[in-house]
Amino acid sequence: MHNAPVPLTDRFGRVHTDLRVSLTDRCNLRCTYCMPAEGLDWLPRAEVLTDEELVRLVRIAVRRLGITSVRLTGGEPLLRRGLPALVARLAELGPELSLTTNGIGLARTAGALRAAGLHRVNVSLDTLRRERYRELTRRDRIEDVFAGLAAAKAAGLAPVKVNAVPVRGVNEDEITDLVEFAAGHGYRMRFIESMPLDAQGAWDRSAMVTADELLALLGERWELEPVERVRSAGGTPPAEEWRIAGTDTVIGVIASVTRPFCGTCDRVRLTADGQLRNCLFATEESDLRALLRSGADDGAVETAWRRTIARKGPGHEINSAAFVRPDRPMSAIGG
Ligand code: SAM
Ligand code: SF4
Repeated sequence: MHNAPVPLTDRFGRVHTDLRVSLTDRCNLRCTYCMPAEGLDWLPRAEVLTDEELVRLVRIAVRRLGITSVRLTGGEPLLRRGLPALVARLAELGPELSLTTNGIGLARTAGALRAAGLHRVNVSLDTLRRERYRELTRRDRIEDVFAGLAAAKAAGLAPVKVNAVPVRGVNEDEITDLVEFAAGHGYRMRFIESMPLDAQGAWDRSAMVTADELLALLGERWELEPVERVRSAGGTPPAEEWRIAGTDTVIGVIASVTRPFCGTCDRVRLTADGQLRNCLFATEESDLRALLRSGADDGAVETAWRRTIARKGPGHEINSAAFVRPDRPMSAIGG
């Protein structure tokens, strides 16, 4: 048995307890703010971590580095073959386990994922209108998402959160509808500011609906009360939350661009091909896959992991002229 984990602390004193794991860079949608219509050059299978490699890295993260929560993402994580079996192996390691998905296929898998030990899901849904969904994702699949959400709730993957990226001229007119939809079904609505991480490099700051604008819009309709954020050992959660006065409806806002939360960031990311990133916006990665495949022992992997965190900068520079876009888009990092 290994000793108690030693916290994964960086030079600014931030303790990293949250690991985001991308299970695949592939996707069955083509959201316009994420990737081009033709998709991307997907990773060759041999470059993607095997289940065995992935479980080993998460074991090291939990047992040696003090990671307490693991979020599975992608690309579309439900496209990973044998996902329930992988989830069961990860759940055995004990972290809080969640999944971010576009919801397609969730109707079929939610029960098995819950039984395997998954705790929660976030389902991305930017519009409630079928035609608009088809334009936005370039696929006519909105009914699958509704079915997936319902199945997640029925399976007890609670709380079910709905993530939307509001974009001007695209879906900003549905912000209150989305809140009502989520509240009516017992889901929790969260809005995410659009970030310069699309594969096409087409991000346009003027199309981003900022947290301030969003709150102003919501404020025209409802009286909002801030929900006090509870600090954990790792940091403050990135979502700022508001409650509609007199109700139990809570709305989350993730203002990565206009109110960066880098100062309390507790996240580290592993790409589907085994590259460790200390930030969503990192321009450097550490090749854990090469290390594993060269026969390195757990201690060597732990050391590489700590080195990567030791190099973490104070924060992203989206708002400065010095900002450099990372080479990988969001879908290949794991959002
Ligand atoms: N395919 C899954 C999904 O859509 O939920 C998981 C991966 S996706 C990259 C994770 C989240 O990132 C989604 O909620 C998506 O809306 C969001 N996202 C994608 N591109 C984004 C961008 N340029 N800015 C902000 N959020 C983005
Ligand atoms: Fe796929 Fe998610 Fe990107 Fe949409 S946001 S294209 S669902 S990875």
